[in-house]
Amino acid sequence: MPDSITKPKTVAVLGAGPVGLAAAAHLLERGLEPVVLEAGATVGHAVRQWSHVQVFSPWEYNIDKAAERLLAETGWNKPQPDAYPTGAELLEHYLEPLATRTRLKDRIRTNSLVTSVGKIGFDKVKTKGREEAPFEIRYQNGKGPERLTADAVIDATGTWFSPNPAGANGLPAVGEREVQDRIAYGMPDVLGRDRARYAGRSVAVLGGGHSAIGTLIDLAKLKEQVPTTEIVWLLRGNDPSKSFGGGSADQLSARGALGTAFATLVTSGKICSETSFGVSQIKRDGDHLRIAAGSACGRYVTVNELVVAAGFRPELDFLRELRLSLDPAVESTPVLAPMIDPNLHSCGTVRPHGARELAHPEAGFYIAGMKSYGRAPTFLMMTGYEQVRSIAAEIAGDHEASRRVELVLPETGVCNGPAPSVAADGTATAGGCCPAPAAAVEPVPAASACCAPKAAAPVAKPAASGCCGPSTKA
Ligand SMILES: Cc1cc2nc3c(=O)[nH]c(=O)nc-3n(C[C@H](O)[C@H](O)[C@H](O)COP(=O)(O)OP(=O)(O)OC[C@H]3O[C@@H](n4cnc5c(N)ncnc54)[C@H](O)[C@@H]3O)c2cc1C
Repeated sequence: MPDSITKPKTVAVLGAGPVGLAAAAHLLERGLEPVVLEAGATVGHAVRQWSHVQVFSPWEYNIDKAAERLLAETGWNKPQPDAYPTGAELLEHYLEPLATRTRLKDRIRTNSLVTSVGKIGFDKVKTKGREEAPFEIRYQNGKGPERLTADAVIDATGTWFSPNPAGANGLPAVGEREVQDRIAYGMPDVLGRDRARYAGRSVAVLGGGHSAIGTLIDLAKLKEQVPTTEIVWLLRGNDPSKSFGGGSADQLSARGALGTAFATLVTSGKICSETSFGVSQIKRDGDHLRIAAGSACGRYVTVNELVVAAGFRPELDFLRELRLSLDPAVESTPVLAPMIDPNLHSCGTVRPHGARELAHPEAGFYIAGMKSYGRAPTFLMMTGYEQVRSIAAEIAGDHEASRRVELVLPETGVCNGPAPSVAADGTATAGGCCPAPAAAVEPVPAASACCAPKAAAPVAKPAASGCCGPSTKA
């Protein structure tokens, strides 16, 4: 009998984040042979970078079903379903026990950075016999170059380590690379590990998503403790209320509450916003950064520190020899793109999906998890768990289970269709497909993008006519 019939398929899983580990659990359950390659010294290496952040999805949404079954064999105590863990708790109570105490433990190779993936004997151009050729995965584990041969590959390497730059056009702003010591990407722990860096300093936060909002809320708390801390919110768009989310209409209540709390800080003037601020240039100016929008002699903000929370992008270089099909804008598969494209996306349209939607021209290769969304935001772990359940079924040849949808996703309560309107009496009317936003979320009047100079002045400098106080200039 040929090997292909007698031997279970080896599947390389790249990345041991929540979705990579879930993939391995599903593969194991189906009698396949997963090998997980993780760049970090431990599993959940990306989650560890934001361990201080409390997630907005409760435990019931953060645990994969196959992973739970593996953990149950070890006498694991399942966390309370309605509690909201921090990243650190996600690691301690779920990812680490899954990786160290279950049957997955011999399947994970940490300190293993994947550097390239190809097909043995086939460069990208060669077609005849390609489908039968195994994959070759090259990786480095500190001892030297290593290689792994696999029948299928699931890339679940996430996007955390490839953040978008500050530059509004997607390129680093002019000078951005030269001032890296004053820029943090993602979500620094401003109330904990990184407190000394931000306390009593002027800080600009660029971005309109959950990471930016979370950091701004934490900075506002830091300002309560150290009042000389100054905060400026830099927004590429012109409407701050788009970042306020769906409020009580969000089916993930913690996510809705985050937006509502943030709206209160902005509308009360505690956080000063600079809208339509497309960063073009960053220059060092003594102990400060001068961050310019548009043309270099136009508007600018002067602060000590910049936090860039402008989203992430997938790292595709190491997949160069594979035949991928990617949407030119979103960088997800073309089938998935219209469902998640932030230009089009409206609530409820991110329907659960699996192997079929994630397939590439390279048979047996899938991108799953956070990375599968390309540059699109709002990925949820539970989406990834459903993806890898379906992919594992497909690789095992169970096409019926692969196509089945076993997940209902919570809606965000926001959409890009007709905007919800707020009447004079404060009652909100839903627009398009969306439920009404939380009544507490007030729209920001056009002029209030400019804050009271005193409250929001990032640094005491000679007056320039700025929205956010003396250190900004229009
Ligand atoms: C601050 C923050 C808060 C979030 N809150 C929520 C929430 O409340 N609810 C929710 O559902 N989702 C939330 N998310 C989304 C969350 O990232 C994902 O749900 C989840 O972490 C994605 O898991 P993943 O396994 O796809 O990717 P990751 O968690 O990013 O894991 C990828 C893994 O791959 C490894 N890796 C990277 N490159 C390589 C390489 N070349 N070779 C080998 N290994 C590599 C990384 O080290 C990492 O361990 C949040 C994300 C962030 C950043």
